[in-house]
Amino acid sequence: MTETATETTGTEELLSDLRAWLNENWDPDVTVAEWWERLGLAGWSAPGLPTNAYGKAMARADTVLVQQELAKFGALGAPAGLGLLLAAPTIATHGTQDQIDLYVRDIVTGQKAWCQLFSEPQAGSDLAGLQTRAIKDGDEWIVNGQKVWTSGGQYADLGMLLARTDADVPKHQGISYFAFNMLQDGVDVRPLKEMTGHALFNEVFLTDARVADSALIGGVNKGWAAANTTLANERAGLGSGGGNAAGGGLAQPGTVMGLLDKRVGDIVGPKPTAGGKQRSQQPGGALGAMRGGAGMLINLAQTRGVNKNAGIRQDLARLYTLGELGRFNGLRVKAVKEQGGDIPGMPNVAKLSMSQIVRLTRDLGLRISGPAGMLHAYDSDDKAALKHATGDPFAGGISEMALFAQAPPIYGGTDQIQRNIIGERVLGLPKEPSNDRTTPFSELPKNA
Ligand SMILES: Cc1cc2nc3c(=O)[nH]c(=O)nc-3n(C[C@H](O)[C@H](O)[C@H](O)COP(=O)(O)OP(=O)(O)OC[C@H]3O[C@@H](n4cnc5c(N)ncnc54)[C@H](O)[C@@H]3O)c2cc1C
Repeated sequence: MTETATETTGTEELLSDLRAWLNENWDPDVTVAEWWERLGLAGWSAPGLPTNAYGKAMARADTVLVQQELAKFGALGAPAGLGLLLAAPTIATHGTQDQIDLYVRDIVTGQKAWCQLFSEPQAGSDLAGLQTRAIKDGDEWIVNGQKVWTSGGQYADLGMLLARTDADVPKHQGISYFAFNMLQDGVDVRPLKEMTGHALFNEVFLTDARVADSALIGGVNKGWAAANTTLANERAGLGSGGGNAAGGGLAQPGTVMGLLDKRVGDIVGPKPTAGGKQRSQQPGGALGAMRGGAGMLINLAQTRGVNKNAGIRQDLARLYTLGELGRFNGLRVKAVKEQGGDIPGMPNVAKLSMSQIVRLTRDLGLRISGPAGMLHAYDSDDKAALKHATGDPFAGGISEMALFAQAPPIYGGTDQIQRNIIGERVLGLPKEPSNDRTTPFSELPKNA
């Protein structure tokens, strides 16, 4: 049997298992919490996680098929957000089994929402230069500092917190990774408004906030390894369309968003009929539209009557090709991993490729839209007015996507940083000269 045939058979078996499970378990009348409990404990929320962490150890390419199959069936998909995308695989890799049972269980069942407390005003690309401190106090740590760009911080129950626990060793060696309770005194979350009109991310001020010693993931001063697992998942996930830094897209988990007590059928909408279109499970979001990729823009070009324009056709073909290359790379990774190997630098390549797709989608979307692309709606009233004036239901979506397109090439590590990593760690090019791997953090010059 050829490799392709094996893959198809494996995938078909997997999807037919999922369909059988859905026929038994999907019930639009239960609450969102109950549905996510069923989905998560059966291993279908995050099938890419290992089996001891509520997963099925599936390849990333297959996990994307699982989410598509859930949507096709008309069931609510896995909880969205950074818990599933980042915290769960990190804790599954670096946490103890008790931590997996405490934190990952609540993530796959949508009980808790997470945010990523990594970046600081003076520590973005140079993440290891972070200055938020955690000082030991009995069996707790006291945390002081400031984070920024914290996507979804205003809805999070918990945060993946990186804090400096030893300033007298080189900077990468004195960082610890905590599962941090966001809903406590000492945590001040202030939303930042973006040019899209939304406030996806926040500043977070930490003043004498507390976190238990038992919430340390991977051990004291071992946070850099855990942080790298989070970042690798972020890059690979973003590249394969598995999520976004804002955690936007699917239904949002956690105690703050208030979805858990709702009837799940009301969130997901009616089951799609053959040939019919399913109502979106989610607010959509700019990155969601970008993930629609070439297909969405081809439809738009047809509706606008510009699908015969040679330049637009050329770029639509480029966009389609980039999407297909991403898919093939996902399959290559899957095949190599099944043989016990790895393709170095692939998460970085995937993220760079996504940046290219996002920029091309922005430029093409605006060209297809013409002058209407300059109009942007900031709220639902504006959106209705825009739709009425242009007769085009996509008008607001294209400008939203164009405004948001600046973000994906930055979050999860900028394009320049991805290229540095590929150059230094994959191609073996010399590193920038620096003494920061040997000098104690306390002796390094600081930006501020
Ligand atoms: C929409 C959005 C959501 C985000 N969500 C989160 C989140 O939830 N949690 C979180 O912790 N962070 C988040 N971030 C932060 C993100 O990870 C940082 O913005 C990113 O790492 C860049 O850091 P910076 O903004 O401090 O830029 P800087 O590090 O100051 O970089 C400025 C410029 O200099 C370039 N540069 C810097 N160093 C080098 C170098 N060594 N070589 C070449 N070029 C270099 C960069 O590429 C960039 O162009 C988010 C960002 C955005 C835009």
